[in-house]
Amino acid sequence: MTAHPHKVRVLESYLAGSWRQGKAEGKPLLDAATGAPVATIDASGLDLAEALAWGRDTGGKALRKMTYHERALMLKTLAQALTEQKEIFYQESFATGATRKDSWIDIEGGIGTMFAYSSKARREMPNTRVFVEGAVEPLSRDNTFSGQHVLTPLQGVAVHINAFNFPCWGMLEKIAPALIAGVPCLVKPASQTAYLTELMVRHILATGILPEGSLQLLCGSAGDLIDHVTGQDVVTFTGSAATGQMLRKTPAIVQNSVRFSMEADSLNAAVLGPDVRADDPEFDLFIKEVAREMTVKAGQKCTAIRRVIVPRKLSAAVADALCKRLGKAVIGDPRDEAVSMGPLASAGQREEVLARVADLKTEAEIVPGLDQKGPAKGAFAGPVLLHCDNPLSAEAVHSVEAFGPVATLMPYDELEEAVELTHKGKGSLVASLFTNDPSVAEEAVLGMAPFHGRVMIGNRQSAKSSTGHGSPLPMLVHGGPGRAGGGEELGGLRSVKHYMQRTAVQGTPALLGAVTGRWISGAPGKEDSRHPFRKSLSDLKIGDQLHTKARKVSLEDIEHFATFTGDTFYAHMDEDAAKRNPFFEGRVAHGYLIVSFAAGLFVDPDEGPVLANYGVDNLRFMTPVNAGDALKVQLTAKEISPRISADYGEVRWDCLVTNQNGEPVAQYDVLTLVAKEWPASA
Ligand code: NDP
Repeated sequence: MTAHPHKVRVLESYLAGSWRQGKAEGKPLLDAATGAPVATIDASGLDLAEALAWGRDTGGKALRKMTYHERALMLKTLAQALTEQKEIFYQESFATGATRKDSWIDIEGGIGTMFAYSSKARREMPNTRVFVEGAVEPLSRDNTFSGQHVLTPLQGVAVHINAFNFPCWGMLEKIAPALIAGVPCLVKPASQTAYLTELMVRHILATGILPEGSLQLLCGSAGDLIDHVTGQDVVTFTGSAATGQMLRKTPAIVQNSVRFSMEADSLNAAVLGPDVRADDPEFDLFIKEVAREMTVKAGQKCTAIRRVIVPRKLSAAVADALCKRLGKAVIGDPRDEAVSMGPLASAGQREEVLARVADLKTEAEIVPGLDQKGPAKGAFAGPVLLHCDNPLSAEAVHSVEAFGPVATLMPYDELEEAVELTHKGKGSLVASLFTNDPSVAEEAVLGMAPFHGRVMIGNRQSAKSSTGHGSPLPMLVHGGPGRAGGGEELGGLRSVKHYMQRTAVQGTPALLGAVTGRWISGAPGKEDSRHPFRKSLSDLKIGDQLHTKARKVSLEDIEHFATFTGDTFYAHMDEDAAKRNPFFEGRVAHGYLIVSFAAGLFVDPDEGPVLANYGVDNLRFMTPVNAGDALKVQLTAKEISPRISADYGEVRWDCLVTNQNGEPVAQYDVLTLVAKEWPASA
């Protein structure tokens, strides 16, 4: 498949299993730099209720048959396929006004987010269809009734309404967590740049990697889409606060308690710390970051810096340095490699930005010295730096967002005031602070954090490794309180969980274990003549158990362990000192001696399917062990996770060490890698 950037395409929607066109003649979409028509778009007359029903049924069922790891690997394969085809998307992306660097964020940043989610899910989620969260809660004294939280995929569709500025990333960063959760998606890109999203969806579907029904696309206006959502669907929205707030109140969303996640515009701040002087590295880093955030994507980024908060004594120096740096921006057609800043996404956006600058000018003055305009034809706008001398009493500079290369400089006198200024944005996606002073970092970050989803501290040490103010990362929260929409889009497994229902399941441990696929303390175990370490992954069953013989701990053992390891802590070596300790009645065995003796008791030494011990989890010492005590171990296979792409898997063993009175002295999970077959098949 090849792109035809010069041919005016009629955009289609992929709904209920086929590519469809709207009934009306499409609205033209124009190249942001040249004004040439790129595509037409229309969605009138499309049956969106049918599309949602088809997604729930066909896509949802297919996805839910797979495990978390299978879905995560599917995403990795898809990300690899998209990487191979990336040049096609880069070519199409120029029409949106994006330079090649801007498109990198959108295209490879989006694909990278898929890769990151894929590997994160395979590391942090089990290879099962149910996600177990937190510890078992024992609810009865005799251990016959317990509770456990589980997460299962919602049985609806994830409806993603996206913004115009990141036609690829905006889609990929949202479908990645939803598909891993096991929920099919219906993507509705913003009309302005939908041609790039449509092109990518065509390529995604052509790979055949996703099961039918797991990805649908709506090109054109949303029509009555939202009227058909149910309590099992999820709606996410990125765009203007006004549209988001209107959608949030849709009767179907309110009446069905539909999960609605919103990421709206926010007036993100960058604060220069009071400790910084004009000749400090932090000053230069601050200038570079602000200028970069103003010009990347021509400032059309939800995370872009809009408010530049600086110590009053440095205000003139900052204005000067920023103008010098911004003055270097080369504005023009993004296809020209010398160009560093492309146009805004459309003529409409340009008008909108100019109108918002006019609003800002009621409280701030334009800093003179910046007069780049870019070519007359196309949606070009030069950088605009404003200065508001009394920002604490101003309103517009904290609420009016000019979604372009526009920022306002705001001086402050005390750090407390700078923090208060960040609050006046009423909730933002991100703020950055440039300081090299730990006390400034502490005071400013703790003050700003409740109003922000992310805070980046910049200084000389992190300058080379910093991912920057404006980059949302898959493993960190992306979203912010208040004006920013109140959502948490990214942030590791948090966003996967957003598409799943958390349920507290209560019951007897054996039945709870049957639901979660884990052995739970209190459930029966099964011991047979074979040591569990002799069983390969294909033989081993949840609940397979070993009870060891007892081993007495002597004073010589404790002393030997102390001198051998060098751990001669008084509680092990000095009877009187140990007695003075509130927890002990005399010298006690080392915790690590207990763990070592336990391994000596449960390990089967011969070469076999157990390949390695890669750690322990949740280790607790519960009862002190004194010389003369006799230790026994109960080892139970608790969780078995075969890896899809390896000939081994993980086995989590519950290890309970008890003394001669049956009291638990230590309990932990032993983590091992076990071969799928033994002897390994050639
Ligand atoms: P909108 O809020 O108008 O559009 C965002 C998305 O919502 C688009 O997909 C749009 O589709 C869709 N939409 C609009 N109306 C409805 C509706 N009634 N029902 C369902 N979906 C609807 O924002 P824009 O993209 O036009 O941008 C306007 C402003 O939003 C910018 O100037 C900027 O201030 C802010 N913005 C913030 C972003 C952020 O990341 N936080 C990103 C982009 C913009 P369609 O395009 O078909 O109308």
